[in-house]
Parts: sequence; C-alpha cells; structure tokens
Amino acid sequence: MDSDTQEQAPLLEARGLQTHFFTRVGVVKAVNDVNFQVMPGETLGLVGESGSGKTITVMSILGLLPRGAERLKGEILFEGEDLAKKTEKEMQDVRGKRIGLILQNSMAAMDPVFTIGTQIGESLVVHKKMSWKESLQNAVDLLRKVRIGAPELRIKNFPHELSGGMRQRAASAAAIGPQPALLIADEPTTALDVTTQRQYLELLKELQAQTGVAIIFITHDMSIVGSLCDRIAVFYGGLVVETGPKDELFKNPTHPYTKALLGAIPVLGDKVDRLQSVEGEPPNPGQLPPGCPFAPRCSAAMDKCHTGDPPPQYQVSDVHGVRCWLMEEENA
Ligand code: SF4
Repeated sequence: MDSDTQEQAPLLEARGLQTHFFTRVGVVKAVNDVNFQVMPGETLGLVGESGSGKTITVMSILGLLPRGAERLKGEILFEGEDLAKKTEKEMQDVRGKRIGLILQNSMAAMDPVFTIGTQIGESLVVHKKMSWKESLQNAVDLLRKVRIGAPELRIKNFPHELSGGMRQRAASAAAIGPQPALLIADEPTTALDVTTQRQYLELLKELQAQTGVAIIFITHDMSIVGSLCDRIAVFYGGLVVETGPKDELFKNPTHPYTKALLGAIPVLGDKVDRLQSVEGEPPNPGQLPPGCPFAPRCSAAMDKCHTGDPPPQYQVSDVHGVRCWLMEEENA
C-alpha cells in the first residue's frame, strides 16, 4: 500500500464484529471480534479454512444472515455510515447498488427461469432507475465488458445454457452493472477449472482497473491471494489472526497459522517430496477451545495459549497486526 492510500479514509471498516448462531444444541461462535479495513479501489483477501468465519463475516456486513444467526456487537462503517444501524429496507438500497456480491455457485445465484439479459437488466432498472430498453442495451455492453462473445445473442440465453466460466462472468456483469463501490466475491473460482479460474481472476483485475471498484475476495487459496490481493486478513476461529499488506505478510508472516498456510504453497522450480500442510483439524465454532483458537494445532503454543481470552492484536508494523502471544514474549 503506498502512502497516498494510507492517508485515504477506508471505504469499509469492520470494528469488533461478533456474530453467533443460537441453535438447539448450543451457541456457535462463528465470528468473534473481527476487525479489518478495505481502502477504496484495493483488493482485500479474506483467507482461511472452511468454518473460520469469512463468509459469516461478509453476510453480517450485508445483513444477510441465515435464521438463528445474530450480529451481537460491532460497527460496520461503509462510506461514512454504520451499516449495523440500518434497517432492512435501508440495506436493500446498499446491497446490489453500493455493494455487489458474487457467489461461489453462479447457477444457484442466478434465477433459472429468467434470461441472462433480464437478470442483468433488472438490477439496472432497480438500482439505476433505467428503462427496460436502456437496461438491456447496458446488459449487452456489460457482457462485452466481461468478454462474453456475441452478447446480443447471449442476453437471450438462460443460465443453464452457459458454461460455468461464462455464467460466473455473467454474474459478475450483473454485480458491476450498478457501479458499486465494493464488490464481495465469495470463493467465485472454486467451481472453475484452473485455466478458467486464471482467466476469471485476470478479468476481475481488469474490471477493477476500469471501474476503481474495491474488492473483498474470500478464498482458502493463498496462491490466489498472492496473485490478486493488495492486503490480506487471515481468519481463524472467527478472528482475524493476522492482517497487513500482502507483500509484507508474504515476506514476514508472523502468526504460526499464516506461516503454515504460506508453507503449503507450491513454489515453481522447488523440488520437494511432499508439500507442507497444516496439521490437525480447524476448530468447531460450536466448541472453540479456551485461549487462542489455534493452540491445539500450534507447535509454538505455551501454557497461557490454552487459557483465558484469545490474544489481543499486536502491531508488527504500522500496517501489520497479529494476534499471537509470541509477540508479547518478543517485546518483553
Ligand atoms: Fe500459537 Fe500461542 Fe500464538 Fe496461538 S497465541 S498462535 S497458540 S503461540
């Protein structure tokens, strides 16, 4: 991040976000004290294993929590307003218009009974107050922008008539149509083959360069983060355990979990018998251990890691924070 970016106000800031599920068998602590910022025009990668709290965090931000889940604490400052204080009706004006969402499964995200053109056009009619005729012309332009050939014909297709990669690009066209300031992409490449995945990531970068949209990219794949993101927030046990600029985190990972994730990335040209993996299982958010949630898997764990509250955030540098007791030992 350059100094100009640092001086800007964040586009989005989550402060102390906490979301739990209240189930018949107990409380599932999905998100516990999550803090991060997204600057205008940048890409923030939310990275971590399944169940680490990434998706529930963004659903908390969007006010799209499933039944039984409740946002208990926290501020969500977006374009100077606290989304946590908005009513559902007010949030309908934010979702789609100011914050676009791209989901992992484009087939499930699109309505099978409406054409691609109708679905892209509808968001323009609703959020940009265009006429239907105008919105369909714009839908053609948007499909062209996401590199879908013969867009005049494609707008008449139904979602099942497109390939997976093409459908994901059409879903992205629908998301960027209303010109949001922030795009949230929740594992959008998981269902795509490697070549289509690479093309899609290039497309996202291109769209960002053209529109200036900021992106939150959720993934469990550190190599995607390496190629796409400006900054990273590493999730574990419903906490952001390390955050900072990508280059700094890749050069100086400080949390044992971040180190393990980076150790699992294959390096071109390196001959290894076996890639590193993070030993053990991620914690069940319904049964988080006391202390640091990573303690049962951490080879550096000390006695204090197994009791009390999780460690607070320590600063490695002005822009690099980590939640690990080792930082206290280091500073002592
Ligand atoms: Fe490991 Fe303790 Fe740091 Fe957690 S706080 S990552 S258990 S050393």
